[in-house]
Amino acid sequence: MDAPPFANEVNGDERGTVMSIEVQHLTKRFNGFTAVHDVSFRVETGELVALLGPSGCGKSTLLRIISGLEIPDGGEIHLTGKETTQVSPRDRNVGFVFQHYALFKHMTVYENIAFGLKVRKLPKQEIECRVSELLGLVQLKGLEKRYPFQLSGGQRQRVAVARALAPSPRVLLLDEPFGALDTKVREELREWIQQLHEHSQVTTLFVTHDQHEALEIANKILVMNSGRIEQNGTPLEIFDRPATPFVAEFVGENNFIEAEVTEPHLVPWGPFRFPVNGYPLGEKIRIYFRPHDVYVSSLPEYPHVDVKAKIMKTRFRGPMTELNLHIGGNKQVIAHVPKGVSLTSGFIEGSEVYIGITAFHAFSKS
Ligand code: ATP
Repeated sequence: MDAPPFANEVNGDERGTVMSIEVQHLTKRFNGFTAVHDVSFRVETGELVALLGPSGCGKSTLLRIISGLEIPDGGEIHLTGKETTQVSPRDRNVGFVFQHYALFKHMTVYENIAFGLKVRKLPKQEIECRVSELLGLVQLKGLEKRYPFQLSGGQRQRVAVARALAPSPRVLLLDEPFGALDTKVREELREWIQQLHEHSQVTTLFVTHDQHEALEIANKILVMNSGRIEQNGTPLEIFDRPATPFVAEFVGENNFIEAEVTEPHLVPWGPFRFPVNGYPLGEKIRIYFRPHDVYVSSLPEYPHVDVKAKIMKTRFRGPMTELNLHIGGNKQVIAHVPKGVSLTSGFIEGSEVYIGITAFHAFSKS
């Protein structure tokens, strides 16, 4: 497939310029309830950043503030290095795509994409050229005469993205753009949005509550909880080095235990002894370890895979098998092993195995 043209190429004077988003100490209250609480972060030129968090944590409010649709109670917004906190949405030059298709129902695909350009009174020929370019970019060439009801959900969202990109925005804000679509289409569009971003290089901030979407697409993830940013990092950092218990619980699957530092630098839990640093004796600790970081073997492998466990239940999870393991003392551990390993090693319900924990994260309970 030919590389799609650059989305921001038409507006040549924007090329090479800074297209960053910076918010400083943003706060927003609704009737005394703080939906966004002292939030600061920066999205660099050309980055694709995910704003990830559970329902109601303030993601959409934050995006709406950046776009100018919502006025913050405190803080500042800088787009492309200029303070825009008081600038009207129209003059911010921001592209916005919502979860629910906000296409004009009575307009064709062409007319929808051309809308923002007609409002700006661009010459007809220029509009035709830009719409044609965008139809190529969002891979909808040939569908320009269709109306929204004649398109699939995924195609409609692609038109919405093309419409948002038409006026060559400085930044693109996507609010759960694939939220209303089924899993398969969402997965296809994830790949598509990545390609689109690679070609257009428009600085993009997209909201999602889907960790897989964020981990797969984004260069950087902002994890949000109760109006605050809990962690700002690359997908690998967020997954491998969660900064808070919330991030550890929200991103990826986990075994979770609470125990106490009863020996210097050690948290014993059943037959396991977790080394921890910097906590005093008696400190209550939360420990998280991922099911795929539990190593399972049919024989003891010294020194680390030596805790005896019984497989109480197996669950088929596609490419991997989930094992529910009892280690005595009413303690349970969930392990994920590749399906092939599980089959060849004879990991069946009732069998005895040996386990070791290869990685974990510890946080103080207080
Ligand atoms: P979701 O993923 O469900 O869309 P979200 O993370 O985008 O959630 P927001 O829509 O930003 O969350 O809402 C954050 C909080 O602010 C919620 O408790 C919501 O009820 C509240 N809220 C949002 N808009 C308003 C409003 N206009 N008036 C009053 N409360 C609001």
